Formats: sequence, C-alpha cells, structure tokens
Amino acid sequence: MAADVGGVTPRPYVPVVTKLHAVIGNDHCVENEESSTTLVRNPATGQEITRVPSLGEAEVDAAIARASRAFETWRHVTPGDRARLLRRFAAAVDAHGEELAALEVANAGHVIGNARWEAGNVRDVLEYYAAAPERHSGRQIPVPGGVDLTFHEPLGVVGIIVPWNFPMAIAGWGFAPALAAGNTVVLKPAELTPLSALRIGELALESGLPEGVLQMLPGKGSVVGQRFVTHPAVRKICFTGSTEVGRTIMAGCADQVKRVTLELGGKSANIVFADADIELAAARAPYGVFDNAGQDCCARSRLLVQRSVYDEFLGLLEPAVAGVVVGDPTEEATEMGPLISAAHLATVSSFVPDGAPVAFRGSSPDGPGNWFAPTVLAPVDPRDRAATEEIFGPVVVVIPFEDEEDAVRLANDTPYGLSGSLWTRDIGRALRVARAVETGTLSVNSHSSVRYWTPFGGTKQSGIGRELGPDALDAFSDVKNVFISSD
Ligand code: NAP
Ligand code: MG
Repeated sequence: MAADVGGVTPRPYVPVVTKLHAVIGNDHCVENEESSTTLVRNPATGQEITRVPSLGEAEVDAAIARASRAFETWRHVTPGDRARLLRRFAAAVDAHGEELAALEVANAGHVIGNARWEAGNVRDVLEYYAAAPERHSGRQIPVPGGVDLTFHEPLGVVGIIVPWNFPMAIAGWGFAPALAAGNTVVLKPAELTPLSALRIGELALESGLPEGVLQMLPGKGSVVGQRFVTHPAVRKICFTGSTEVGRTIMAGCADQVKRVTLELGGKSANIVFADADIELAAARAPYGVFDNAGQDCCARSRLLVQRSVYDEFLGLLEPAVAGVVVGDPTEEATEMGPLISAAHLATVSSFVPDGAPVAFRGSSPDGPGNWFAPTVLAPVDPRDRAATEEIFGPVVVVIPFEDEEDAVRLANDTPYGLSGSLWTRDIGRALRVARAVETGTLSVNSHSSVRYWTPFGGTKQSGIGRELGPDALDAFSDVKNVFISSD
C-alpha cells in the first residue's frame, strides 16, 4: 500500500523495486518475494509503503565483481570528465530534490523541512567533491639524485554501510568523496530506510555514471554489510551506526588490514555557563537534542548547567520544550516527527520508566505511529543509565556543575566523544573549554555539527577517521610515492 507522502505525488513505489533491476542487474534480482524482501513502513503512520529486495551473499558478490570491473574504467576517466559526471549527478539530485525529500519523510519520518535540507545536502556534497578530481594534487619533494612525486591513488571498491537516522545525507557523505577520489562504491542502506538511497542510485545511472560505479545493495547488515567486510575486493569500509556493530566491523577489517572509517554513537554535552545568554541557550537547547526526534549521533543529550543559573535555566527551558511542534512530518510547521520503529520506541521508553525523574515533557500525537514526547529528566545522577548510555530518542538529562573544571570533567566522563556545544560570552573560556572537551566537533553558542566544508567525526569510542571537508578525500585514497632517477 502506498502511503500518503504529503502533497507531493509519490512515485509509484513498485517501479522503485522494478527499476532496481537496473541498479543491481537483471541476473541478480530476487525472484522469491516472500523469503527475500523487506517490508518498508512509514514510521509516522505504521502503514506499509513497499517491499524491497533483501540481497543474499551471491548477489552481493556479483555486485562487488561488477564494481571491481567498473573500477578499471572509472579510475582512468579523466579528472575533468569525472568532475563533469559528478556535477550532472548533483544536478539530477537537485532536480529530484522534492521527490527525495518526500521519500525521506515517508520512510524515515523526517519532518519535511529537514528532509528538503537533506536532499539539498546530498546535492551540495556532490558539487563540493565534484571539484576534487581536478584539484587532488600530489607533491614534488626535493630529493638527491632525481625527482620524487606523490600521487593520490584510489583504493578500489569501497563499501559504505548507512544507518536509518539520516539515510540519504550519510550515504552522500560516503559516496561523493569516494567517487571523486576514483573509487567505485557498493552501498548498503539500513533495512528500515532503503528508499532514498535506491532512488539516488537510479539518478546516478540516469545522469550518466557508468554501470557498476555506484550500486545500492539493500539487505541485512549481517548479510550484505558483513560481506563487504569479508570480501577481499572491497578495500575500505565506511560505516555509520552503533558503536557495538562498529567494533565488530573494525575487528573484521583487521583480517585483511582493510581501511575503515567509523562514525559511531555519542552522548554529547551541551554546557551552559552562567555568563552565557541564558535566554538564547534555553531557547535553542531543545533543538540541540530533539531534532530528528533525538535520533542523531550528535544529539546534545546531556545538558550541563552551571549551578548558579540552574533554576533560571530550567524555568526558561520548560516553555521552550513545550513549544516544540511534534506531529505530522509532512506539515511545514512540524519540528519533530516519530521514532523510526516500534522496537526503537520500546528501547527509548525503557530510559523513562515509571518513577523516572521527569521534570517536564513536550507533546506528541496519539494514535498510530511511533511517538514519544520530548522529555527532560532532572535531577539525574551522572551514573544513571539515562546519563551514560546513548538513548537515540528525544530524552535529555540535566546535570548541574560548579565551575569550568567541573564542567569539563563531567563532559569528558563518557566513552564517547563525537560532538557538543558550549554557551558562554567569555571568549577565553570558550577557547579553553572547546579545546579541553574530548570530541571531534564542538560548537560555541550554537548547535551546529555538520557543515560539508569542514571535517566531521568522533574521538574515543565515537569513531575513527573524518568525513566531509577537505579531509575526506584522504580517507578514500592512499599516497603513492614515486622516485625517478636523473642518472
Ligand atoms: P546498527 O545496527 O549499527 O546499524 C547500522 C548499519 O549497519 C545498518 O545498515 C545495519 O544493517 C548495518 N549492520 C548491522 N549489523 C551489521 C553487521 N554485523 N555487519 C555489517 N553491517 C551491519 O544500528 P541500528 O541497529 O540501526 O541502531 C542501534 C543503535 O545504534 C541506535 O539506537 C543508536 O544508539 C545507534 N546508532 C547510531 C548512529 C550514528 O549515526 N552514530 C546511527 C544509527 C544508530 P541493518 O539495517 O540490516 O540492521
Ligand atoms: Mg542493529
């Protein structure tokens, strides 16, 4: 049953699956609907959207073989032509932005404003890396007896494993720089949210990318994702998801000394100092944690507030939380949608059992769909499960601190280190604390985490490697050194 995707005429969903033959090859499409398809649902309504093939190991191997063959051609496409093809791909994403956004609303429950931003982000990231093939220069290093040159060599086939929380944006952060650096890509979307990636795969072909250069392979992590890890022709894994699975992927990659980038979980702190603009910090705090219903690895799910302004801050936070517009993600004004699945709703709910220290909550709709109202827990013991584990839902814990040293100690008291924010008007303090908090990204007087011009990634158990910005190209190439004797 096709779901209503909010004013935008949905593409007939069955053809998405049929056209998938073009993406994964006619010989390798699954015939048996019952045993090897995944049902895709709308998380806001619980309605079925479509079924998508769930590939087996033989189909994945065939796709990797196609990607290996395509690599021999793609790596030799001249830099100017590779750039042109990526710009055409970006233009196709731009032309279909509204359709891609509607898919993300229907399949991931993203609010339409965010989903439009995400489709635009895929386009922007493609345009940004389209400039790379013509600029990814090596060096000439002075040496005796000849000339020394370095080249950025592509790795080969890259396997990208994508989670369900930002299906198309995270896919783009992987495939755009990987393709620009001359690799071919096999990409596994999350089982729950394959639709936008499948459509982007079709757009890649329609815009002229050669067959086999970018293949979207839907299926289970334990089958498709795992095969990326074990297949010797896949030279690098770019994984975003849970720390638990990331750890097993890193261990699996060790067998073949396979390159790996991991973007994992987080328990980021939002630190509010007494000298901050308290009204602004309180007004913005909900959006630092409840955006995408808290299903964001950068969610500022620990709110650390200096004790001298703690009561004032909570007083301002309450109306800000009540003001978050939760509901139908197809409505323009909606700020927060549903959780991804009934199972995830149960997990998030387990962090707010009967008797939990709920200070106040926002609203959420009744009826079908995986709804959970924005929830503020305070006071919370820093050792409480809600304060230490990644909840990945709209739940924030508030913890008071005494001074700068105490704030840094609390912020760093976690195995994670992905993102964070701090609010202060003291520029010296902003710099000191920004350097002292162990995270990969941090923003001062804002909740920005991801800008495609700048590197993004975690420290500690939040991951390894950097995506986006100028750094990503290095993650998808190896440096080769060539010495030419002048004798
Ligand atoms: P996950 O299990 O880590 O899944 C992420 C991706 O990895 C999915 O495509 C998944 O496939 C795949 N995968 C699963 N097991 C695999 C394996 N053994 N080998 C290769 N690939 C595998 O995450 P999840 O189950 O979606 O979410 C669980 C929790 O992880 C969340 O509640 C949250 O705490 C965290 N999380 C963090 C991020 C982030 O951005 N850092 C994103 C998502 C989730 P399937 O779709 O088939 O499972
Ligand atoms: Mg999982």
